[in-house]
Amino acid sequence: MTKRKIALVGIGKIARDQHIPAINASEDWELAATVSRHGSVDGIDGYEDLGAMLQARPDIEVVSLCMPPGPRFGYAEAALMAGRHVMLEKPPGATLAECDALKEIAREEGVALFASWHSREADKVDAARDWLKGKHVRRLDVTWKEDVRRWHPGQEWIFEPGGLGVFDPGINALSILTKILPEPMHLIAAVLETPENRQTPIASALTFAYPGAETARAVFDWRQEGDQTWTISVGTDAGTLTLHDGGARLFIGEVEEAKADDAALAGEYPRLYAHLARLVGLRQIDMDLTPMIHVADAFTLGERKTVAPFHW
Ligand code: NAP
Repeated sequence: MTKRKIALVGIGKIARDQHIPAINASEDWELAATVSRHGSVDGIDGYEDLGAMLQARPDIEVVSLCMPPGPRFGYAEAALMAGRHVMLEKPPGATLAECDALKEIAREEGVALFASWHSREADKVDAARDWLKGKHVRRLDVTWKEDVRRWHPGQEWIFEPGGLGVFDPGINALSILTKILPEPMHLIAAVLETPENRQTPIASALTFAYPGAETARAVFDWRQEGDQTWTISVGTDAGTLTLHDGGARLFIGEVEEAKADDAALAGEYPRLYAHLARLVGLRQIDMDLTPMIHVADAFTLGERKTVAPFHW
């Protein structure tokens, strides 16, 4: 099978940790170029400027954007206008309106656009969605507590406007929730704790309204040292479902569901790139902005609290 040529833009943490290994292991993709002001990949054609790459490499059909959301729009717009299919890291942009604008451009150009949510591809997310189908949710508790120094070492952009702060990981929990819950929910209250020397929250508590549920809460905190917690617990009329480790492990009551044995497609990013191949083949758009709507609502409704300054 002929592999499609893809360019990666923004060679930083997530490109190296996940995108490059997933592309290299894929039967669908060949990493044909990189665009990055400081990064490169050994043996791969490297550019510092996206426009130069688009002009020099008309053979590259697809562009995958791995930089932070703040600067992403201009890159996505340029790639789409050049007739290339585009994949966006999460969150898909800095604002909802710019994401809608990208969707419109992709539609006009007749190319594929994929706003990816990697956590939705965690091993047990589909099984959780299937189990919850038709059940009545009574209680919802999300705990997403991690150490920002460990997962985002020195990344100043996450504390700058548009960087989302603790919602950068928190939106992963919301992306899972909005995939597995049988009904839509909406935010009714939020508390945003922002360090006095920063622009974005380091912790947040969210309260949602979910049809028929007594409580629906999420707590995100970036100050967690030691054990890290990424848990979603859903109490229903037929027992409690718990996703641990960001969707990698599933418990019904106390009993853990067996691990997946599909080694060929193991992992979130291999699944994202397999889905991208399908979208490109069909020239389709997959852009669900629901997780980002909840974050925007938190910034709209949130009660502000100033907390201790944060230093790396
Ligand atoms: P990062 O390492 O800080 O940045 C990635 C690359 O983006 C940088 O190496 C930089 O490359 C480029 N970049 C940064 N600022 C830019 C700007 N203003 N204009 C143009 N390019 C810029 O960030 P990351 O951790 O990879 O995260 C990138 C995206 O992936 C975020 O949306 C994040 O939510 C998502 N993500 C991250 C993780 C994680 O574990 N870190 C996990 C899943 C998803 P050059 O300076 O060389 O151009």
